[in-house]
Amino acid sequence: MHFINGLWVEKGSHRFASLNPATGKEIWSGWAASEVEVAAAVAAARTALPSWAANAPEQRHGILRQFKEIIEKQKEDLAVLIAKETGKALWDARSEVLAVVAKITYATEAYNERTGTKSRTSPVGEAVVRHRPHGVMAVYGPYNFPAHLPNGHIMPALLAGNTVVLKPSEQTPQVAEWVIKQWHAAGLPPGVLNMVQGEKDTGIALAKAEIDGILFTGSSATGKALHQQLAGRPEIILALEMGGNNPLIVGPVSDLHAAVHETILSAYTGTGQRCTCARRLIVIEDSNTDRYIDMLIAASRALVVGGYDETPEPFMGPLISNREMHRLLEAQTKLTHLGGKQLLSMQPLREGLPFLSPGIIDVTSVINLPDEEYFGPMLQLIRVKSAEKAIEMANATQYGLSAAILCDDQALFQRLSLGIKAGLINWNRQTTGASGAGPFGGVGLSGNHRPAGYYSADYCAYPVASVEAGRLSLPATLPPGMAIPT
Ligand code: NAD
Repeated sequence: MHFINGLWVEKGSHRFASLNPATGKEIWSGWAASEVEVAAAVAAARTALPSWAANAPEQRHGILRQFKEIIEKQKEDLAVLIAKETGKALWDARSEVLAVVAKITYATEAYNERTGTKSRTSPVGEAVVRHRPHGVMAVYGPYNFPAHLPNGHIMPALLAGNTVVLKPSEQTPQVAEWVIKQWHAAGLPPGVLNMVQGEKDTGIALAKAEIDGILFTGSSATGKALHQQLAGRPEIILALEMGGNNPLIVGPVSDLHAAVHETILSAYTGTGQRCTCARRLIVIEDSNTDRYIDMLIAASRALVVGGYDETPEPFMGPLISNREMHRLLEAQTKLTHLGGKQLLSMQPLREGLPFLSPGIIDVTSVINLPDEEYFGPMLQLIRVKSAEKAIEMANATQYGLSAAILCDDQALFQRLSLGIKAGLINWNRQTTGASGAGPFGGVGLSGNHRPAGYYSADYCAYPVASVEAGRLSLPATLPPGMAIPT
């Protein structure tokens, strides 16, 4: 169902469904919004804009707080729903819910700190900066964090006084519907937050509509398509959070177990379906390298893969769809043909369902390694002899989202960190699991320099600079050549 002007609407061009990837069973079906429903949602957001924007920030904040409290009370319901629709392990889904709950604190702090009102005395008068909302914001969500990532745009956008039309992923419409119900229960006035369900065509229709901004999280291919679609409309704000081909560099470390732990969290959390997952493991060779790799293979092989409600509790679940699983298996075959050695092969685990075991492929000798984001549990190993080579390999990508460096030596970390081009660079921490207290975004094909996370406030409001004087008075001296007759 769509949510337009405070009402649930069942109309559209055709029906589509969402499946539980762990069972293949349909769990939701509904209409894909056509241009008609999209136009109605945008019109509702436009009508609601003046009064929502005119509210004091505290009033808007009050509704956000109400939403947060509702989510907190039902956090397990939401976690189970996320696990069911995405296939995520429950521990992972629970951490997504915590991120939704925590967002209000960061969004409020960032709103005040980065877009609040500031004033200072200047020679020409009081120099004041205030911020205003852009207007109607279209928010696009990916399937891998169906609650947290749209929320990461929606909360700061609403707080700044914008109204929103959400277009969730067609692979996770049920989570989106559930979350919108909670916003409604929190008391948002009609039209302030609308939702249109649908696939790619609904997304295209929304970008064509009378919106003021697009806040997008998804693949680089879609981000590029939206960028092209908006060509010639410079007045529309476009914030793109896109994919990555992220390097994890391992240098000399004394605790190999800890290195294996961080590597697994980097490569396989969320079945490798996190934008920040490590795709390329770049190991600077030393006397421990073979042991570390053997330990990594053994620990990866032992990872429990299963449905969120199965016993033993899995580390990771299925991929989102059979299509994605086949795409990954094809990539594994392609890399093998190019000269990659399968140290641990990804294998389908259940007939007809997208359960895949984790894989490690040594691509050190592959000459033209494709620069692609393989969105699943496949880690490409590259062995190098020096820190310089590690930097060169890490940067051999058009993307630049996340990177991590595991090494005991701070000077080496600093050297590597300075050389790597990415928006997130961790030290002795996994590539995944960013803090909400920091900006979140990448360079190159990973983003367009409008990071989300703590910096979302920046793209949700524009500054208005004013020079002000409380009283109009003639200056003591006039410019040369000017006289004002008395
Ligand atoms: P996707 O790009 O396929 O879809 C994202 C959204 O865009 C969906 O709502 C989809 O329906 C819509 N869409 C698709 N084609 C469109 C078009 N031509 N015009 C308008 N809308 C269109 O992404 P996905 O597969 O759902 O998510 C996985 C991708 O998202 C990965 O590449 C991952 O790296 C990336 N991601 C990035 C971040 C980040 O913050 N940088 C976070 C999570 C996921």
